[in-house]
Amino acid sequence: PLPVEPGSKLTLDLAALYDHSSPELVHVARYARGIQQRRGDYNGRILSIRADDLSALAIIYDTTPSALLEKLSELGVLIADPAKFFADQKD
Ligand code: C2E
Ligand code: C2E
Ligand code: C2E
Repeated sequence: PLPVEPGSKLTLDLAALYDHSSPELVHVARYARGIQQRRGDYNGRILSIRADDLSALAIIYDTTPSALLEKLSELGVLIADPAKFFADQKD
């Protein structure tokens, strides 16, 4: 099952995304940096983006939003539950 259901929030793990060696993630990483710039949101560990942005990225990757979501999940750059993510970091 996907960590992000259709209609729920799409949240990226920025450290995982920017550190990832996979060339497949180049466009996602560039897009996320662009959103951070427009928001002035530079200090976050994670970034919630619009469902519309997933659709735009799916076009760039010549795939569907759900297939791209699955890919992002496989590559370990999605966060299913931001609150839990931060709770887990505190150990
Ligand atoms: P936080 O900023 O303290 O927000 C805690 C919770 O308040 C969020 O839980 C969400 O339920 C609500 N909230 C905060 N800002 C908004 C908003 O603009 N719209 C709505 N509808 N709700 C809002 P959530 O989503 O589970 O996020 C947990 C934490 O993850 C946030 O704590 C924040 O530290 C981080 N986070 C999530 N998305 C982003 C992001 O895009 N950028 C950054 N820098 N941090 C984010
Ligand atoms: P904008 O689309 O005109 O949005 C203006 C402001 O409305 C945003 O300022 C934000 O405070 C709020 N806002 C709009 N839509 C949402 C939403 O779905 N959730 C939440 N929590 N707030 C929303 P902000 O964040 O400073 O962004 C400035 C501009 O940067 C936005 O203007 C937009 O043009 C762009 N931007 C920021 N984040 C994103 C994003 O995730 N995707 C896209 N496509 N553009 C974004
Ligand atoms: P969120 O803030 O909890 O917003 C959930 C949904 O409510 C958004 O899903 C959008 O459909 C709607 N929404 C919230 N605020 C606005 C608004 O000002 N204008 C409009 N037209 N719709 C709004 P969406 O677009 O898929 O965004 C998912 C999450 O991405 C948002 O959750 C928020 O955490 C983040 N986000 C999206 N756009 C922006 C933005 O411009 N600035 C910031 N800071 N965060 C954004």
